[in-house]
Amino acid sequence: MRVFDYMRKYGHEEIVFCHDEASGLRAVIAIHDSTLGPPNGGTRRWVYKSEDEAIDDALRLSISQSYKQAAAGLNGGGAKGVIMVDSMEQNSEELYRAYGKFVESLAGRFITGEDVGTGDLEIRYMSMETNYVVGLPERRVGAPADYGNIMPTALGTLCGMKACAKKVYGSDSLKGKTVALQGLGKVGYLMVNLLRKEESKLIVTDIIDDLVKNVLGEDVTAVSPEEIYGMDCDIFCPCAMGAILNDDTIAQLKCRIVAGSANNQLKDDKHGDELHRRKIVYAPDVIINSGGAVDFLDAMTYGGEYSYSRSRASVEHIYDRVYQILERSERENIPTYKIATKIAEERINKYRAIHDLRPERSKAIRAGFGKT
Ligand code: NAD
Repeated sequence: MRVFDYMRKYGHEEIVFCHDEASGLRAVIAIHDSTLGPPNGGTRRWVYKSEDEAIDDALRLSISQSYKQAAAGLNGGGAKGVIMVDSMEQNSEELYRAYGKFVESLAGRFITGEDVGTGDLEIRYMSMETNYVVGLPERRVGAPADYGNIMPTALGTLCGMKACAKKVYGSDSLKGKTVALQGLGKVGYLMVNLLRKEESKLIVTDIIDDLVKNVLGEDVTAVSPEEIYGMDCDIFCPCAMGAILNDDTIAQLKCRIVAGSANNQLKDDKHGDELHRRKIVYAPDVIINSGGAVDFLDAMTYGGEYSYSRSRASVEHIYDRVYQILERSERENIPTYKIATKIAEERINKYRAIHDLRPERSKAIRAGFGKT
């Protein structure tokens, strides 16, 4: 992989490679863009087939983080950490503490939280070495415990899914709708609970059998990971890994809506075009899964203390944001992912112009000093 070519193409600022022999840590932190505010994004722990695959994942995910926050009107930049492990059993305290030391060394250039393969416990280990972590329940000051149980990302995903239902079926009720849910981790598990309350029918899958057994019931049936794409359903809800909308899977889809929390769902832009061509309504991932970012950046964006009611209202606003994009996509005949990207890039570019004033000013001052 030609890393600098990639960074130049997508405007990345920095990559940090972290290595610690004693704990076995091998991690990559990609910082995409700090125009809007401190770069932040979750840390993923995964078994990558190669170093290139891990670097590629970090670079791609960091772009999504920038777009997610920019499109939501937040003051945060995009970054992402990935920890490469040989197996998912590699999950020790020292691994996260070594990683936490690297995060601390960046002195606020990277703020992190949970993602695939990391959760409360892992974030707590990191927090023993750095303050630049978010998501610890006691730090979400003012939020009642039930917010923690619902989780802003899952709540936002449900709101976005309802907006899609409203557009396609004329009602945002998910009662009786069949949802095929991929991935039963932190977000997927909560989606099962939320969709049960909506009285939806569920078809679920995960590569970990115990997670599937945990949610089975009268209203929930299980299929293998390979079968999920071709299920007869109204809504496909990806809550696992990225690139799951590709040449192979799109051809199998029978749903009318794709609405899920996974990051980087489209393998390539052309797959967003293909969904549009097939009239499958796609809720752009950077919009529908922005609940966690909205919650985290609440205080930073509004320059004060965290407010649960404001955060919750902003997360629920994902309904309107998704709906507006679907309307615009229909009106202008443009795929939804392109509209989301445009909204995000416009905000970043607008504030980059202001951001650039400072270096220009200091250059001018330096030039002036040179003359005297
Ligand atoms: P998680 O690690 O808790 O859960 C992911 C689940 O997907 C795991 O149970 C895993 O076994 C399963 N999985 C992996 N590959 C699979 C496959 N091929 N088929 C079926 N299941 C598979 O992660 P999470 O925090 O729930 O995140 C889920 C997705 O949502 C990720 O793409 C993540 O980047 C995205 N996301 C998460 C958050 C958050 O706050 N956690 C925020 C925004 C976006």
